[in-house]
Amino acid sequence: MGVEHNVRVNPPLTPPLIDRHTHLEGSLDPSWVRREADRRGQILPASLEALWSGAAIPFQGFIEAFLFGAALLDSREAVREAVLAVARRTLAAGGSGFDLWASPHFLVVHRGQLTLDDFWLGVEEGFSDAAATGLHACLVLDAVNHFGPKHGHAVLDLVLPGLPGFVKGFSTGGLEGCPFRDWAPVFDRARAAGLRCAAHAGENGPGSNVREAVLEGGVARIIHGIRADDAILELLAGRRVPVDVCPSSNRALAMDVQPHPLPRMLLAGVRCALGTDDPGVIPCDLGTETTAARSMGLDDLALARLRRNGAEDAWCLQD
Ligand SMILES: [Zn+2]
Repeated sequence: MGVEHNVRVNPPLTPPLIDRHTHLEGSLDPSWVRREADRRGQILPASLEALWSGAAIPFQGFIEAFLFGAALLDSREAVREAVLAVARRTLAAGGSGFDLWASPHFLVVHRGQLTLDDFWLGVEEGFSDAAATGLHACLVLDAVNHFGPKHGHAVLDLVLPGLPGFVKGFSTGGLEGCPFRDWAPVFDRARAAGLRCAAHAGENGPGSNVREAVLEGGVARIIHGIRADDAILELLAGRRVPVDVCPSSNRALAMDVQPHPLPRMLLAGVRCALGTDDPGVIPCDLGTETTAARSMGLDDLALARLRRNGAEDAWCLQD
């Protein structure tokens, strides 16, 4: 005869909500961009106005809009403002942190618009302001895939001496124009320097890029991966490779991928999480991305899994 106990089961703690993928250069507040453009006597590109209005446009138009904002990041104060825009957007959506992609080599060397010291100081001050509000943050270096591995090495040459502690990762972005196997030595070098490696893959290039980035490039995290077929999803799930999925960005820039594969990816067991990508160019936040995921038919359990993955695999929450 048993004795009945009132066993109190504590509900599992809700994991922190993390924006798993957002770009410094693509996160500026539109109102700040308008003000700055005005002050500088510059005309906003039509592509940027189109994206702000919610239009879907070709990838090249997005690059033009993205670069317009990037060109405004020519001082320590502007970089700090960009980080603060990310922090404000994250907080307003109830978020607790963000993994922030940025391209210091592009701003400092390619464009020559500010010094590396000013770039780091702007990020450091922004992160410090963000931390004061309770937010977690880290930086992931974004190298341009289509510039090739020589450019990747140049990024590392620039940043590895005196790398700040808040830099946790190295990634490729841009057009998937260069085979990931060619990038393997760059990823190896980044890993040897203590950085985790990621790649934008299966976004504007074929799904097979995802397999190549993991198996031949050796990356530990995929951004987008939306063109991956079932066999590649099985590979990602089996290796527990985190995949950052950004529905608003995909809707604007990968409109041919229909329906959005996020439910299929989750069903395959892929560790997907949500990110905003370029919310200053393609307006969105963690709230809109969650709503978009729900509109794909995902239930509360699936949304909770996205959130849990988002926290468990976030680099901003890891040492
Ligand atoms: Zn991205």
